[in-house]
Amino acid sequence: MNRFVLADCTTVDAALSQLKDGAVVKAGGVDLLDRMKDGIEEPPKLVNIRNVAELRGIRETPQGLTLGPLATLAEISEHPSIRAHYQILSDACGHAATPHIRNMATVGGNLLQRVQCWYYRSAEFTCIRKGKDLCFAFDGLNQYHAIMEYDGCPSVAPSSAAVALLGLGASVDLTSAKRGKRTVGIREFYVVPDANPTKFTVIEPDELLTAIVIPRPAPGTRSAYQKYGEKESFDWAIADAGVVLEMDGNICRRAVITMGAASPVVRRAAQAEAALAGKPITEETARAAGRLSIEGAQPLSKNAYKLDLFPVAVYRTVLFAAGLRDRDPSAAG
Ligand SMILES: Cc1cc2nc3c(=O)[nH]c(=O)nc-3n(C[C@H](O)[C@H](O)[C@H](O)COP(=O)(O)OP(=O)(O)OC[C@H]3O[C@@H](n4cnc5c(N)ncnc54)[C@H](O)[C@@H]3O)c2cc1C
Repeated sequence: MNRFVLADCTTVDAALSQLKDGAVVKAGGVDLLDRMKDGIEEPPKLVNIRNVAELRGIRETPQGLTLGPLATLAEISEHPSIRAHYQILSDACGHAATPHIRNMATVGGNLLQRVQCWYYRSAEFTCIRKGKDLCFAFDGLNQYHAIMEYDGCPSVAPSSAAVALLGLGASVDLTSAKRGKRTVGIREFYVVPDANPTKFTVIEPDELLTAIVIPRPAPGTRSAYQKYGEKESFDWAIADAGVVLEMDGNICRRAVITMGAASPVVRRAAQAEAALAGKPITEETARAAGRLSIEGAQPLSKNAYKLDLFPVAVYRTVLFAAGLRDRDPSAAG
């Protein structure tokens, strides 16, 4: 690991004034320090925002919910109102990583964590995401990689919180000292690798993620998230699904279905959503949504198993969200 300067900040303005000349933000440090220890990044300065009180907290407003980016995954998953009204989010944050990581990891850092592709994470490989015109995963070890929408790089979206926040129609506030604040929807926040392989999100080096804003769910909304992995804990998803259902009695007025580990950025499964809209949620409609969630998928040499896993993940999460099934005992976390 390289030597670096640590700038401890207690206000947003102080942190923003430090964000220049290659300095990077450190929140919980879980992902950033892993990248530095793995030798894939050598920032000269870390701007520690951990003690910036303005960036903490979970606020309920008449319009919905505002999360400070320093809210930890544990705080979010245990928040009574989030459990009651935004179950997809408490499920996603409460089943990410492990209990001790959830105590340290912030939701802002979770959204900004980099992909887990082992070629990207190894200093030995200079891949397309590090500025070379090469991807080792297409012909190499790709069992955890994408099955769809992967032009250029098939690494998968790692953030469980993003799967939930996309489902809830959330946006993020990005603030810079020079340009002030802008608001970006979660889907637009992520950059697809074929557009710009070395960029993961639209955040600029001089910007801080200062808030996550979630609109209040429509009356009759039910939601859920489930994650499937190789291990019970201490690992990222190999398939995960978020489901938000706006119900009128037993008829689904509108469905949002999101998937994480299927593609390089979190995605909505539009055909699966359409299969539920205007219909009751039943075994049959949930299975149809599951099947349609992988429409157009093109697995790589070692990950065709995801074609079986995602339909099951979506089907079971639809039934779980609708209250027709308990949380799947084979889900991870
Ligand atoms: C074993 C293991 C299993 C895991 N499993 C999962 C899982 O199942 N699901 C999941 O979602 N995650 C998982 N994770 C990832 C973990 O949740 C993230 O690493 C963590 O949430 C990152 O948060 P942090 O606060 O530590 O971020 P940091 O490491 O401090 O920061 C991460 C990135 O975000 C930037 N950043 C942070 N905050 C801001 C801000 N406010 N403004 C601008 N930039 C900012 C940093 O510069 C850095 O680039 C796992 C991690 C481990 C080690």
